[in-house]
Amino acid sequence: MSHSAGDARAGAGRFAPSPSGDLHLGNLRTAVLAWLFARSTGRRFLIRVEDLDRVRPGAQERQLADLAALGLDWDDEVVHQSRRLPLYDAAIARLTRAGLTYECFCTRREIQHAASAPHAPQGAYPGTCRTLTEAERAAKRASGRPAAIRLRSGAVTFTVHDVVHGDFAGVVDDLVLRRGDGIPAYNLAVVVDDAAQGIDQVVRGDDLLTSAPRQAYLAALLGLPVPTYAHVPLALNVHGKRLAKRDGAVTLTDQAALGHTAADVLGRIAVSLDLADKDEPVTLELLLGRWDPARLPREPWVYDGSW
Ligand code: GLU
Repeated sequence: MSHSAGDARAGAGRFAPSPSGDLHLGNLRTAVLAWLFARSTGRRFLIRVEDLDRVRPGAQERQLADLAALGLDWDDEVVHQSRRLPLYDAAIARLTRAGLTYECFCTRREIQHAASAPHAPQGAYPGTCRTLTEAERAAKRASGRPAAIRLRSGAVTFTVHDVVHGDFAGVVDDLVLRRGDGIPAYNLAVVVDDAAQGIDQVVRGDDLLTSAPRQAYLAALLGLPVPTYAHVPLALNVHGKRLAKRDGAVTLTDQAALGHTAADVLGRIAVSLDLADKDEPVTLELLLGRWDPARLPREPWVYDGSW
């Protein structure tokens, strides 16, 4: 099976897992949705392994194998963030040259205890290091504390358009671009990569909706195109919490041990999306024919372990 549009001008969608463990049913469902959104609009579909952090040995191989087992296909080589550090450095350097960054020496604890600025989103950085003098910065550096690099955002409000949520506005705080340990921050890496890979459609779990205004703002500052977004409902457990490994048989391996093949799991996901009847055999091809983004369920999928 190949859906390769083969045309780079068609734009691209993507799935960007962090290889911190096996994908669970909620992640697999989001991947299926990202694929359906991309393929139904003639886009290429790309996979990016977000391995700057929290890498578990063997996880990425199993994640890719699980996606393939569901029948997902993707274009181009899988991209790894850990091999793209110069790209992130270049973006940070550009922002720095434009006077849009500053060093931050605060610890997590200091940030928690500082009063946040009025109108700032909860947990937003209060701006402690924004106005340090050069002498103060030199003293902090000399004390040996590694500096993070933050965006000098001016706490603007930025609005993104989301296929599921409509216009969504968020305050952009002075977010971290490079952490104190030298690792580029997720928000920066995602923006650089989506643009570099020609991704113009971002489909992912709606836990990341609140990050979208920051990312879109960063893209705009870097002169990069802002993608369209579709933040899709998450899978929850019976307690209304985000589905997790501890919620029972939630990975393809767990399901296989119960006698459910990957095709069965795809069928279960299709039922959850109202794209198939219970126990109906499905393929991605079939789902693609039935797919209509307007029919995407707006509520989270509560997975109680039933089939
Ligand atoms: N790597 C992120 C995650 O697994 C997803 C990032 C994104 O889709 O923008 O949660």
